[in-house]
Amino acid sequence: MTVPNGRRLAATDDIGVTSAEQWRGAITAPSIAIGPGRLVVVAPHPDDEVLGLGATMAARSSRKAPDLFSGRGPGETGATDTSTHDPSDVVVCVSDGAASHPGEVAPEEMRGRRKAECEAGAREVGIDLRMLGLPDGGLSADAVDAALHPVLDELAPTTVAVTWSGDGHPDHHVCAESVRRWWRDARARGRGGNGDAAGDGGGDGDGGGDGDGDGDVTLLEFPVWMWHWASPGDADVPWERLRRVAADDRAFDHKRRALAAHASQLEPQSSAPDATVILPPAVVERFFLGAEWVFA
Ligand SMILES: [Zn+2]
Repeated sequence: MTVPNGRRLAATDDIGVTSAEQWRGAITAPSIAIGPGRLVVVAPHPDDEVLGLGATMAARSSRKAPDLFSGRGPGETGATDTSTHDPSDVVVCVSDGAASHPGEVAPEEMRGRRKAECEAGAREVGIDLRMLGLPDGGLSADAVDAALHPVLDELAPTTVAVTWSGDGHPDHHVCAESVRRWWRDARARGRGGNGDAAGDGGGDGDGGGDGDGDGDVTLLEFPVWMWHWASPGDADVPWERLRRVAADDRAFDHKRRALAAHASQLEPQSSAPDATVILPPAVVERFFLGAEWVFA
């Protein structure tokens, strides 16, 4: 499939890019509650899961295992209410992230850094992590399907969230389409159907909103790069599908610390004057808009 929106990768933090402050003043959407059961967040690269749904994951983890953020270890769960047996949420990170600094950091070096960062970030939001380790830089549909679909079958999520297919990064698109194929198959096998979703509204894909009401698997997509290339009301964004996921300040504190774990994306990785910083502060702030956001 052709890669959509490739030009959007050129989005920068220059004048004309919508600031976090401008987004805060403009963005509004109906709220959505992610239901009980297992949430699986599919991240094409290490850090996408935190950028998109870090606060949501932290809030859910603290509800499922109240001891998690209380300073006690996981083995000291005396006060945890285990009566619900709600399965833990899981991040599935598809690529190894090794291609984030081509020409600056050797891929084998970056691979180790990003694995450690992803593990630390997952601990901070209290979520289990699976790393599929596909080579970063040009994920293919076949490779992602082969690695990801068996894991989704095994994890059997109630809700699966993935980067938005129109986000503007080819890997985000490939992963979104792969998850959608799995979701359609799961629905055909009797596990699926966003009974509560909003419908496609003319956006890309079918929006997961044409389910049969069984509601066994809900499909959500979260924007990452959209916050950098889009502006409020942008005609390329399916705003009618946008939903607001509420999270409190404490959950956002966990998100901020989880993101800090991804230091290779926040700080220059060499002393070169033009060393790349993938996520400078102004970019990071666009992920702290008072809530988290998904296309339903
Ligand atoms: Zn990414």
